[in-house]
Amino acid sequence: MEKDRLIQKYNVPGPRYTSYPTVPFWKNDQLTEHEWIDSIKRNQHVFQSNEISLYIHLPFCESLCTFCGCHKRITKNHSVEIPYIDTLIKEWNLYLSKLDFVPVIKELHLGGGTPTFFQADQLIRLMKALFGKDSIDPTQHELSFEAHPNNTSIEQLEKLYNFGFRRLSLGIQDYSPTVQTAIHRIQPFEHVIKVHEFAQKIGYTSISHDLVFGLPKQHVEDIESTVEKTLLLMPDRISLYSYAHVPWIKGNGQRGYDENDLPKNEEKRALYERAKELLEKAGYTEIGMDHFALKHDDLAKAMHSKKLHRNFMGYTTQSTTLMIGLGMSSISDSWFGFAQNNKSVEEYTELVNQGKIPVFRGHILSDEDLIIRKHILDLMCHFETYLDDRSIIHSLYPKIKERLGEMEKDGLVEISKHIVKITSKGIPFVRNCCKAFDQDLNKQELTTNLFSKTI
Ligand code: SF4
Repeated sequence: MEKDRLIQKYNVPGPRYTSYPTVPFWKNDQLTEHEWIDSIKRNQHVFQSNEISLYIHLPFCESLCTFCGCHKRITKNHSVEIPYIDTLIKEWNLYLSKLDFVPVIKELHLGGGTPTFFQADQLIRLMKALFGKDSIDPTQHELSFEAHPNNTSIEQLEKLYNFGFRRLSLGIQDYSPTVQTAIHRIQPFEHVIKVHEFAQKIGYTSISHDLVFGLPKQHVEDIESTVEKTLLLMPDRISLYSYAHVPWIKGNGQRGYDENDLPKNEEKRALYERAKELLEKAGYTEIGMDHFALKHDDLAKAMHSKKLHRNFMGYTTQSTTLMIGLGMSSISDSWFGFAQNNKSVEEYTELVNQGKIPVFRGHILSDEDLIIRKHILDLMCHFETYLDDRSIIHSLYPKIKERLGEMEKDGLVEISKHIVKITSKGIPFVRNCCKAFDQDLNKQELTTNLFSKTI
């Protein structure tokens, strides 16, 4: 079949493009605090806005899911909560002391790890310290958190709602008992119903379910049954992530199953296509890559009005150009630079206690990086990009078009003098299209060990 041929041809390793340059090509192995703060000042100078996005990494989980690629710390010891929240507050105060403006937090996301590992009172203590008040106006600030259905309490849902949270995403993955056993994440549907329905009853306006395709021992019947259960609750948004099998990066955590247990190439893509078919039939719109939303949801509206934006947190309706990441391993983005915090809880804590912004590596973008970054962002959000003859990189455009030649022949992209547009047939291959713009990948031979496969 034509579809299978395309999948065979284009399912090659490639980045997910949550940043450009992508992390393996960042050049500052020892980015200094000074360089990082300078790049924030440049952002201020150029964009003249004090609005920011804040990502907060809460790394603790009680049990290891063996498919997980996140930076986490497995522990059942909840005495880690208070000192970790103390450190986050200190880190925020360090930023406030070093920035020459007072940031307004437009968007905040609690990610992990498992944010709901933390007691509601600890999460609220953190929010009060960040915002300097007891609650916020949810029409002015978009607050969201990731919730584990097995350990999200009614108290957490209520207290976070009362502070001003209106969005949550529930980590589901797949409902099949066989898949859940393989990934070591036993999660009954009843837990999801309970959390989802209670959140809805309180008044959360955007509930997302995170599903994963390509998991070990996952077959089409599993994804069908998972989507059917999901549709009983009709969440506002659904993420349908591709499982990234990168055991060479994540070590033994992902080795609880064999390569042979994983659906491959067209078999894997069929899982996505079947889920997409069921979701679209139920009224969902596909957003960018891996995301779906009901028509009333802000993400769907932003896509239709071409206001969709994407940052390290994923697709968003906010277009802030400065994202500060707090917590162990968090990544920050000033548009002109990226910075990542230390990946060990102990070292991260020690650096903050010494009064240092705990960044350990990053990248300051060149003028060329900035232009390529914008093209890749446009492709990922709007499936097209404009090639400007006056751009300082216009001499690279013939080469980029040449690299897209095969995709054009296969009907996956349309190329005119000034526009590269991904066709509807080409949407599953958006990452391949971005690769043609990626100067780092094209400067050196791509090794299979840097990235997961694109499909
Ligand atoms: S999937 Fe979530 S809960 Fe499971 S180990 Fe990873 S971060 Fe923790």
